[in-house]
Amino acid sequence: MTASAQAPARSPRLAVWKALLIFAPMVLITLFLWVPRLTTGDSMITLAVVLVLIVFSVLFFLMLLTGKTHRYRSILFILFAVALPIEFIPWMIKTYGSMMLTNEIMYDGGASFCPLTMPMVIIPALLRRVIIFPGELVPGAAHGAFAFMFMMWGGASLAIGRGWCSWGCLYGGWDELFSRLRKKPLIKHQQIDRRWIYLPFGILLAIVLLSAITFQPVYCEWLCPFKVVTEFPAPTTILTIVQMVIFIVLFIGLVIVLPLLTKRRIQCGLFCPFGAMQSLLNKINVFEVRIDPDQCSQCQQCIRTCPTFSLDNSSLETGKPLITCTKCTQCIDVCPKSAASLHIKGTPLKASPAVARVLYLYPAYILLLSFGGLIVAEALLRILKLITTGSMLY
Ligand code: SF4
Ligand code: SF4
Repeated sequence: MTASAQAPARSPRLAVWKALLIFAPMVLITLFLWVPRLTTGDSMITLAVVLVLIVFSVLFFLMLLTGKTHRYRSILFILFAVALPIEFIPWMIKTYGSMMLTNEIMYDGGASFCPLTMPMVIIPALLRRVIIFPGELVPGAAHGAFAFMFMMWGGASLAIGRGWCSWGCLYGGWDELFSRLRKKPLIKHQQIDRRWIYLPFGILLAIVLLSAITFQPVYCEWLCPFKVVTEFPAPTTILTIVQMVIFIVLFIGLVIVLPLLTKRRIQCGLFCPFGAMQSLLNKINVFEVRIDPDQCSQCQQCIRTCPTFSLDNSSLETGKPLITCTKCTQCIDVCPKSAASLHIKGTPLKASPAVARVLYLYPAYILLLSFGGLIVAEALLRILKLITTGSMLY
C-alpha cells in the first residue's frame, strides 16, 4: 500500500479531519516554541510572528491534506531563503567590525555559531581539542548560541539526516529557487555525468584535512557565503581579493547560473561539502526514500525530476536513491504510480508509508518552523521597521 501515503482520503471531509488530527501536535509545539515571541509586548514583533505562523501552518496543513510534501515544502523553503538576506545583511552591516571572536562573548552565548562549520571543525577539534570557530573547546563553550546551533544541527541530523538540506539549509533554498525558475533546462540531466555527485565528498575531505593541518577555518574563509563568524574581509590584499573573486564566482556559478541552466540544485548536489557530511550522517538516520519495484512502471519521471542527481536506473532496480538524496520528496510528488515513498529503515517496504511520512514530517517541519520561521519573522520585522522608522538597522 503506497497510494494512501500520497493521495488524500476519499471523503474530503474525512481527509480534512484526518489532516487536522495529524496537524494537532504541531499546533501545540508551535505555540510552545513561539509563545515567548508572541508575548514580548512589541506589537510589530507580534504581527510578524502571527503572519509567519499563519503562513507556515496553512502550508503544512495543505501538505498533510493533499499528500504533496514537496509542493508546499518548497514554497516555505524558498521563502526562508529569500528572507535570509533581508534579515542577515542589515545584521552584518550593523555588526561589521565587531565580530565575536573573544572567548568572553562566546561564553556569554553572544557568538553566532554557524552550523555550516560543524562538520569542518569536528576532526580538528578531536585532534587538537580546540574548535576553530568560534573559539576554544573548553567548559563553558557549550552554552548559549553555540549550544543552540549545535543542538539544532545535531538534533536535525539525527531526526531527518540529509533532509537537513531540503528543510533547514541556509543555502539550499536559493539553489532550489533558481533551479525552479525556468520551465525547461538548457542542459539536460543526461548530459551531466552522475559521478560528479562524489565531488562534494572530496571537497569535504580536503577541507577537513586542510583545517586540521593549518588550524585555519578553511571553509569559512574560502567558501562560506555568510561569514557569520569571520566577516567579509575588505579586499585590500591579494589574498582577500582572490578569496572574494572565488566566492563570487562560486556563488554565481553554482547557486544561480548552473541551477538556471540545468533546473538542478547544483550547489547542493555537486559541490556542497556540508551536504556530503550530511549524507554520511544520514547513515544513522531512520528515514529514507524507497521505490517499490512492484508499483514502479519505470517511467523515469522521478529520475528526470530529482534536483540532486540522486536517482538513476540502478535506483529503480535497487529501490533506493543514491547517497546524495536530500529527502526533498520531489520524486514522491511526481511519481504517477505512488511507487516512491518515505520509509523507515528496517521495516518491510510496504509497511505503512503514510505513518513513515508523518513521522518524518514532524521533525522536518519543526526544523523549518523554528529555524526558517524565525528568519522569516525577523525579515518581516525589518521590513516593518523600514516602513515605520525608515531604517532596517536596529
Ligand atoms: S516516477 Fe515512479 S513509476 Fe516512474 S520510474 Fe520513478 S518510481 Fe517508477
Ligand atoms: S531522490 Fe527524491 S527525495 Fe531524494 S533528492 Fe531526489 S527527488 Fe529528492
